[in-house]
Amino acid sequence: MSDPRSNDGLRVFKSSIFPDVPLCIGRKGASWFLCFSCPVGARGTRIHACINRIDTSFPFPSELREGHTKFVFDTHGPNHGILQQLLKVDDPPLLRKTGTEFGSGIEKLPEVEVLITPAETLRCCGRCNKWEAVCMPRFQVCSSCKLRYYCSKECQKADWKPSLHKSECPLLKEGKENEVEARRRTHDNEWWLKNKMREMETSYEDADALFDDPDYFLYGAHDSLRKG
Ligand SMILES: [Zn+2]
Ligand SMILES: [Zn+2]
Repeated sequence: MSDPRSNDGLRVFKSSIFPDVPLCIGRKGASWFLCFSCPVGARGTRIHACINRIDTSFPFPSELREGHTKFVFDTHGPNHGILQQLLKVDDPPLLRKTGTEFGSGIEKLPEVEVLITPAETLRCCGRCNKWEAVCMPRFQVCSSCKLRYYCSKECQKADWKPSLHKSECPLLKEGKENEVEARRRTHDNEWWLKNKMREMETSYEDADALFDDPDYFLYGAHDSLRKG
């Protein structure tokens, strides 16, 4: 496996998951994604899959002040076999299993430690949900919480509202990521179905397509979806 790296610090790697497309580990808030380093297919997809599971019964998201960030890897559905492949990427490794598992019954999900740095992680704009493009300037971090990235000054300004990042930022600074996550309810798919999807003025077909797009499904891209 070759391990090309771009000059700007982003970690780009090759894996047998998609032998022909360089990959990245992406992060958007508390969600982690297996991303393509460049747009793929006619729709210009950047995300292969959301790779973590956020559940109110898990002690996550967890931004450890010391040591590495950890998350619970979702090994089901489109993620089947992916963790195994990602663990094979070395020099240096991307992820490491901690040995702890979450969930109950047959559904045991492994906890993983993220070994790459924030600089090596593909960033997503906290406002417009745009992903970084390789060979373009990196997105800038909120200088206060250092946990939200923005593609432009305009997006950062637009997100600085009491209902959005202005109220989240101090909580994130205090390490209260669980609280922020609970407010956004991004982990709660059932709640999204009941309360958010219903708000969408869209045809059944469109709504169906949105379910395939973790970008929309997890965070929504419209203001109407981001209130609350
Ligand atoms: Zn943006
Ligand atoms: Zn902030």
